[in-house]
Amino acid sequence: MIVLPPSFPFGGMENPMLAFMTPTLIAGDKSLVSTVAHELAHSWTGNLVSNATWRDLWLNEGFTTYFTNRIVEAVYGKEQAELEWVIEYGRLVEEMQSMPLAEQTLPANVQDRDPNLAFNRFTYDKASMFVHELESRLGRAAFDIFLRQYVEHFAFSAITTESFVKYAQQTLLVEHGDKLSENELNEWIYGQGLPDWFVAPTSTSFDKVDAALEAFIGGAPAHTLAVTQWRVHHWQYFLSKLPLVVSQSMLLDLDEAFQLTGHQNAEIACDWYRVAIRNHFDLILPALSIYLCKIGRGKFVRPLFTELQVAGYKQELVTIYNQARPGYHPSLQVKLDALLRVEIGLIG
Ligand SMILES: [Zn+2]
Repeated sequence: MIVLPPSFPFGGMENPMLAFMTPTLIAGDKSLVSTVAHELAHSWTGNLVSNATWRDLWLNEGFTTYFTNRIVEAVYGKEQAELEWVIEYGRLVEEMQSMPLAEQTLPANVQDRDPNLAFNRFTYDKASMFVHELESRLGRAAFDIFLRQYVEHFAFSAITTESFVKYAQQTLLVEHGDKLSENELNEWIYGQGLPDWFVAPTSTSFDKVDAALEAFIGGAPAHTLAVTQWRVHHWQYFLSKLPLVVSQSMLLDLDEAFQLTGHQNAEIACDWYRVAIRNHFDLILPALSIYLCKIGRGKFVRPLFTELQVAGYKQELVTIYNQARPGYHPSLQVKLDALLRVEIGLIG
């Protein structure tokens, strides 16, 4: 593995024998290492069995995202794996709210568009929910046999969505037809959004966060919240579940109690800045500017500029973007130029 400069636009990249990593994974407490598992899992789903076109990217990313969770479970236990699965589901639901329904399918609709658009929550997280459901329908032992046979069957080849469907029809639906129907398979792969029978993942590990949230919203000072056992995913859950509108005094209380502004964990910092921007908590702006000028990982940068845009921080957005843009990877520059074209004066 090689850790690249902070401008590296992705979490990781699965080059055979030399995975590239963003330095934002280095949190000081090994809390973000699941991306390492993800890039290694691509050795099988991605580099051994590859997607034939970008439309079929979900075959790489869905299975790999599922394997990531299995590796986390094997190394860190079921509780941590469930936490990460629930966070993954939350990201998917968030993207479902803003993405047109026609885009919410496993095969990406990019035949005549920029293939970068295939890298979305549906090719990763919806596809991984599909694989998780296959596991729960078949039972883990039977599903693991299917997985091994699938990878062996297609090893060293590039396959399309339809190659997978055909293979599933000849194997899964024959051997396990009592557990999964052809209609259900088609609904998962070609249907929009999540199937209506889908049961969202849950984790009792978030109960303590729910209790803290309720206390905080009910007026308890931040320093009285029981957070000592929390790991990064608990913090992410806490920040994502705060009400849309939070008062300035509550934000100041949270920041003073937990030093969220300038937090060394890039995930927590990003989620905190999103809450702060939405609520015009301007105290964060200098630290936000440093963060956006230092880090060029699209996963963090894009949502933060979107929040600035939605919250109407036009002047600040232009200043930060002009300063940060030269340090971003060209692929991210193109996306942000398109997203921010009004603010940065390309049109209107
Ligand atoms: Zn991947």
